[in-house]
Formats: sequence, C-alpha cells, structure tokens
Amino acid sequence: MNNVQGKKVLVRVDFNVPLNSQHEITDDTRIRKALPTIKHLLEEGAAVILMSHLGRPQKKKNEDGSINVNKFTLAHIVPHLSELLGVRVLFSKDTIGESAFDKALKLNTGEVLLLENTRFEVGETKGDDEMAAKLAKLADVYVNDAFGTAHRKHASTYTVAKYFEPEDRFLGLLIQDEIASANKVMNSPKRPFTSILGGAKVSDKIQLIEKLLDFTDNLLIGGGMSYTFIKAQNGKIGNSLVEEEHLDLARELIRKAEERNVELYLPEDSVCADNFSADAASKIMPSNAIEDGWMGLDIGPKAIEKYAKVIKSSQTILWNGPVGVFEFEKFAAGTMSMAKAISDSSAYSLVGGGDSVSAINKSGLQDQVSFISTGGGAMLKYLEGTVLPGIEAVGK
Ligand code: AMP
Repeated sequence: MNNVQGKKVLVRVDFNVPLNSQHEITDDTRIRKALPTIKHLLEEGAAVILMSHLGRPQKKKNEDGSINVNKFTLAHIVPHLSELLGVRVLFSKDTIGESAFDKALKLNTGEVLLLENTRFEVGETKGDDEMAAKLAKLADVYVNDAFGTAHRKHASTYTVAKYFEPEDRFLGLLIQDEIASANKVMNSPKRPFTSILGGAKVSDKIQLIEKLLDFTDNLLIGGGMSYTFIKAQNGKIGNSLVEEEHLDLARELIRKAEERNVELYLPEDSVCADNFSADAASKIMPSNAIEDGWMGLDIGPKAIEKYAKVIKSSQTILWNGPVGVFEFEKFAAGTMSMAKAISDSSAYSLVGGGDSVSAINKSGLQDQVSFISTGGGAMLKYLEGTVLPGIEAVGK
C-alpha cells in the first residue's frame, strides 16, 4: 500500500456491525479493526473512499418494495468512525450515483469519504460488472480489507479489483493479519495443537473437521453438534439437536481421528433443559444418557474440567463456535469457561466465527486472546483451504 501519495484510494472495509433499535452500534470491533489501514493510507498522503455493506437491505425491504434506508444506511456509522479516526468523515448518500462521483472528485488528500451501503445496489451481491466499473471510476487504487466478506464474489469485494492494474490493488492490513494468523495455526503450529469446535450443526463444519484432522492433536467438540457424534456411538440424547442424516459421517470422522492419532473429545456430561428457552428447568446428565424430553444445551462440569485441562496443556489453540447456547445465561457456563481457559493460557490462540467472537467479547477476555478473527464464514473457508475470491482478485 505504498505510493498512494496524492491518490484516491477506494477501500472495501467490513462495517457490518450490529446496531440496536435506535441504530446505535452495539459492537464496534469490525470498525476498530479497519482503522490501521485507513490511518496508514491517510499518513501516506491518500484521499480515502470507504465502502461497505451493512445487513441485508435487499432481503428486508419495506412493504412497498423500497429499501429501508433508515435502518440500513451507513450514515449510522459516520459519527463513531469520525471519533475513532479523529478526522471528519464525509458521507455520500449513494454508492455509485452523482453524490458519490461528486464527493469523490472533490476529495482531498487526508480526507475520508464513506459511500452508502453497497448492498443498496442490486448489482453488489451479483458481482455486477457495471457496478464494479462505476466504483472503480471513483479512485486510482483499490484496497480490500474486508476479511468478513472475502469469501464472496461481490461487486465491491471481487469484481471491482479487475478494473485496477495489478500494481494499483492491495490487501489491507487487517486481511494480511487475518491470513498470517490462520497460516500460523495451520502451517506451523506449536504443539500440542488443540481445536475447539462448537456451534449448532456438524453439517456446517464437516470440511473444517476433515481438514483439522490432518493438523490438530486434540479436537474438543461441544455445542449442538456433539449430539450427532454421541448418537452415532449409540448414546441416548433425548431431544438434543441431531442431524440423523450425518450419523454415518460422524462415525467416519471418529474413525479418521483414531487413524490419524487425533484425540477427539466429546462432552462427558451436559447441562440439559426441559425445553429450548432461557428459563427452562435444567439438570446435569451424562451426554450419552439424556432422559427423554430433555435436551443438552451446554457441556457439563466434568466436560468443562477435562476440556480446560487439555487447553491448559496446549501451545496452539483454535476456537470456532460456542459449546452451548451461551445466549441463555443458564447454558453459558461451558462457553464462558472455554473463553477463560483460552485467555489463561499462554498458547497462541485464534478465535474465529461470529458466535465465538461474541462469546469472548461477552466474557470480557478478548484482549487476552492472540487473535480474534472478524470473519465467520470467511475464516472457516480459509481454514478449510479454500482460496478466498476477495484475496485472489487482488492477486497478492
Ligand atoms: P454456529 O453458527 O453453527 O457456530 O452455531 C452457533 C449457535 O449454536 C449459537 O447460537 C448457539 O446457541 C447454538 N448452540 C450451541 N450449542 C447448542 C446446543 N447444545 N443445542 C442447540 N444449539 C446450540
């Protein structure tokens, strides 16, 4: 990202942050993570044009079919971004229209312009050429720093890159850090290397599990996906989440783990609920002997103790997905204990996946983790070994 002095730089950032009903930002992690690139470009003498999506405005239109601008406008981001940057941020009320062109044209070195939500344009998610070409006209240089959407072939994350010469397109500092962190874990982990996988379904994580079996020493499984594995070994799981169609696959993964000398751990006990709600009655049961009418919603105390011990003895840790329904206080202890064990450890730790990141933020221990990924789906894909289109298009 050198030689940008006096140039206009179009930066795809990921400002897809959660907002409350008053449109206030409830978690600004993604904005903060984008700051180093923006600051670097300003210091190098560039004029910075930022673009991002926010939510899914095309899927959540008003009743009359119009875009709900009030809900999805990036104008909500401007005051906080200005404050964090210490620079006034100009805003264009369109993405590729007259306002964007006018404001981009007049933008001076050291100034920042934020374009309206890229997904207000139907062409964005289609990777539309016309939209990408119009975006490219706004600037001399393109930087992709939106790791969270790097797995998508969208106009602003992918198509736009080809309208810039190879020497005029770059990956931002955040994407570079994300890749370095994932590579560190996958290519040269200090051992023992422990992976903790949670979340609702096995089906979402099959490829990652397959891939990890080649690298990891320990695989700690938690969350809803545990019960498919437990049922596959003839356990009684009551009403716990299960993917019947993946029982064979679960057996196959257990077999592969053995073959490759990976220690695969399933939770010995579970905190079970009599229904799926925050105020359900709860009881601890062995995970393979859950009574009828009950469902496992968190890993139990014995599992926590065992998992924490494995984490403590590890040198590299990868965590993706909560080990319980941590959104409900009663079933959050397992996930919070994993966050605590990881933060107490001096191992290199990478936490990725939207929900594990919210969990670690909720625990307040986020500063004690080596790297928190901003990309849920993108990190999963990268770890699985997929070439991310947003990275490939920049060609660095
Ligand atoms: P994922 O997006 O696949 O990482 O899944 C995250 C979601 O899995 C969270 O919203 C959790 O509440 C949910 N989850 C975790 N453990 C369980 C469980 N035992 N039963 C049902 N849902 C779970």
